[in-house]
Amino acid sequence: MHYLDANATEPLRPEARDALQAALEATGNPSSVHSAGRAVRRIIEDAREALAGLFGGRPADLVFTSGGTESDALAIHALGAGRRIIIGATEHDAVRFAAPKAPTIPVDCNGLADLEVLSALLGDGLPSLVCLMLANNETGTIQPIAEAAAICRRHGAWLHVDAVQAGGRMSVDLAALGAHSLAISAHKLGGPTGAGALLLAPEITSLAPLIAGGGQERGRRGGTPAVAIIAGFAAAAAAKSSAESARLAALRDAAARAAVACGGVEIGAGAERLTNTTSIALPGVRAEAQVIALDLDGVAVSAGAACSSGKVATSHVLAAMGLGPLAGEAIRLSLPWNASEEDVTAFAAAYERMTERFSRTRLTPLAVPVG
Ligand code: PLP
Repeated sequence: MHYLDANATEPLRPEARDALQAALEATGNPSSVHSAGRAVRRIIEDAREALAGLFGGRPADLVFTSGGTESDALAIHALGAGRRIIIGATEHDAVRFAAPKAPTIPVDCNGLADLEVLSALLGDGLPSLVCLMLANNETGTIQPIAEAAAICRRHGAWLHVDAVQAGGRMSVDLAALGAHSLAISAHKLGGPTGAGALLLAPEITSLAPLIAGGGQERGRRGGTPAVAIIAGFAAAAAAKSSAESARLAALRDAAARAAVACGGVEIGAGAERLTNTTSIALPGVRAEAQVIALDLDGVAVSAGAACSSGKVATSHVLAAMGLGPLAGEAIRLSLPWNASEEDVTAFAAAYERMTERFSRTRLTPLAVPVG
């Protein structure tokens, strides 16, 4: 299988596997006062220090959670209390479903948020929490977060940034961005599934928990933390090499060129994007039919918006970009840290075979039972 679906989950990095396995050997609860507990607590605190340093915050301001979804939900629950919430039109469901009635900031055809609309929305001076993602999971579009943060600060609003897809793939620094909180997730950067973090700016001095429990994480998130997973999380975040982004960009662009040569339409390439991600539409062919055809040919990609039930809906991200019917006809390629030229060659061959098959059937979508 050629795995080109890293934005769903990155393959585990070897550094993360080693740290995870080593931490599994430790017995004890980090809340216990005896030496076994303290040894396990050391693992957590070392990871906290490493992650906070990598993402531009202070260790005391980093709250471990179960993943990106919980980090977003915690930020919206705690920072959004008593504030009007405004979200980007292309936010992940983790944000959309935590703030279902929030007004949205529209995007252009490359997925870039219209910051003039943000300014206008904040113009009424109401205390607000704005949620804007750093990099989009479907298109890789990178938002101008520092600019958005400056606008928010001018209007006294707080800015929560979902950096789940950006973490480990580009430089992400909470202080440099000027935002108030940042969500990250272990399995999107080559760590194991099951851990994430919410990093707070120093001015956020209290955070009402979603889960109170035993008062762990300084009362901001109850529950015994996932020690080994957190160790793997920190090791994965530290493992990214600077050469990786350029290598992935070259492979990603080669894959996109091959698809475009067969009639594919690359989406959102006019904006700065994550170097591992592209979205490619094939006019007239439903995204899920493409995903299945490529899967049968040994290549794993995803449709724009796969929800947990496995059903594929028309992408709200591509719809917000004004793509009309193409919003249901685009696949996402997201190259993992260990993608190779062979993966791209296999994708190009499979894509060509797929387009030939669909053109023989006059681009009639396959009858695929979904859900
Ligand atoms: N935010 C974004 C942008 C994502 O892409 C995802 C997952 O795909 C999440 C949040 C949720 O992260 P997790 O799977 O760690 O809960």
